Amino acid sequence: MTAPTTTLSDSDLETIERFHGHICSMVLLGARMARVAGGRLITWNEDQSRLFAFFRGYGCAVDGVQIMSGCTWGNGNLVLLRGREFSLVLTAEGSPRAIKAVPLPDILSDVCAARGRILNTALGDLILRGPGEELFTLEEITDLGELSRFPA
Ligand SMILES: [Zn+2]
Repeated sequence: MTAPTTTLSDSDLETIERFHGHICSMVLLGARMARVAGGRLITWNEDQSRLFAFFRGYGCAVDGVQIMSGCTWGNGNLVLLRGREFSLVLTAEGSPRAIKAVPLPDILSDVCAARGRILNTALGDLILRGPGEELFTLEEITDLGELSRFPA
């Protein structure tokens, strides 16, 4: 198996701009978060079950998550959660296992402070291509019960 792509390319930027209407710091953060989480999840989702996402956040980031995870509001495999924490939990349908990605506090505050303008800056390059561990904490969840779409 070839290693999954966890960075964002020029062609990804075109796709993001077509969907979202512009390229901004928050849409890129959401897109990269989905890529990094998806890259980790693929290591155990061998049968490539349909992905399912729980997203907690704000601003344009949810569009980046939708584009890069394939989990969308329209097709019903994206759940938006309330709360102040910014996170993406990505799982495969039917699995109790998941990956939770949370932006590092400095990254999130820098992305918010950038007010959208980020391409061709050091922060922009980091978001597009930097090591995932310099952007997010990644935690493996083994019992998704609490986040179930249909709680018992
Ligand atoms: Zn935006």
